[in-house]
Amino acid sequence: MKIRKIVLFYLGLVMAALWLVACGAGAAATQPAQNPAGEKLKVVATFSILGDLVQTIGGDKIELHTLVGPGGDTHTFEPSPSDSVALVEARLIFENGLELETWLDDLYTASGSTAKRVVVTEGLDPLAMAEGEAAHDEAGDHEEHAAEGEYEEHDDHTAEAGGHEHAHGEFDPHVWHDVANVIHEVELIRDALAEADPANAQSYQANAEAYLGQLKELDSWVAEEIKKIPADRRKLVTSHDTFGYLARRYGLEIVGSGLGVSTEASDPSAAEVVGLIEEIKAVGVPAIFTENVSNPKLMERVAAEAGVTLGPQLYTDALGEPGSDGETYLKMMRYNVTALVTALSQ
Ligand SMILES: [Zn+2]
Repeated sequence: MKIRKIVLFYLGLVMAALWLVACGAGAAATQPAQNPAGEKLKVVATFSILGDLVQTIGGDKIELHTLVGPGGDTHTFEPSPSDSVALVEARLIFENGLELETWLDDLYTASGSTAKRVVVTEGLDPLAMAEGEAAHDEAGDHEEHAAEGEYEEHDDHTAEAGGHEHAHGEFDPHVWHDVANVIHEVELIRDALAEADPANAQSYQANAEAYLGQLKELDSWVAEEIKKIPADRRKLVTSHDTFGYLARRYGLEIVGSGLGVSTEASDPSAAEVVGLIEEIKAVGVPAIFTENVSNPKLMERVAAEAGVTLGPQLYTDALGEPGSDGETYLKMMRYNVTALVTALSQ
């Protein structure tokens, strides 16, 4: 009996403690501040490169969940239940848009999330998809839609056909290879964070100001570096169309677009590969490149058959793992450009 009484006494103490904790939590939840004391602003970024920008501006004031991590291919991502939970808990979702995240609308709806969605490419001047890529579309009304500026999902049928081809839409989503675009994105991220969490607005502004300075420096540096490549060699071949914006801003020519190969891609047709090899020989590029999100085997074969150098693997649609040359956006850009300049100048 005595032992039972002691147990009941301690049980009573535990219950009382739990009751106090519950009351405390209840009081915090009814406070007008949107972020209870000590709780960080919960945000989601869809993929690693965007996540790096958001984390840099948010600093220690945010809790970031990035859906597609380093080395992951956002085009072919398949969300898991934990991603759904992250959307529910988030106040803001940062997304690229331009149909990079074809899976996000469904995930957002299914999760029941009420987070505000911030499309960081809004206000940018998007590139229309290259002709070669457009050729994958069976829809004949491609031009009309492009003129109307609609973002149609034309590529669904390619996925259904079983070939994991790049689910690209009307516009090229790979805006981050132009540093000026990222400067615009950082401004949007800064403003969205400050609006959602006014108490920490000064911190977001200070972080953005410092980072924007680094980005402007990077932009000038990339322009200067690309000029080091002899003019007739400023030509780029990669396994999928990811460098359109780099080419547009810094003066490179994209060769052999339209293979549309992604991480899990089934091989393109033999005729497409032969066409690419002939194109490489005809334009005389000294080197071609593989990407961190693509299977390198195809490009190894193409390089061997075209008789050109296979340059180092570039960070294209995702950051590299922590500790790698591509662990941040700034490092990734410097690594890519150095690799391009070195390989194309030889
Ligand atoms: Zn891509």
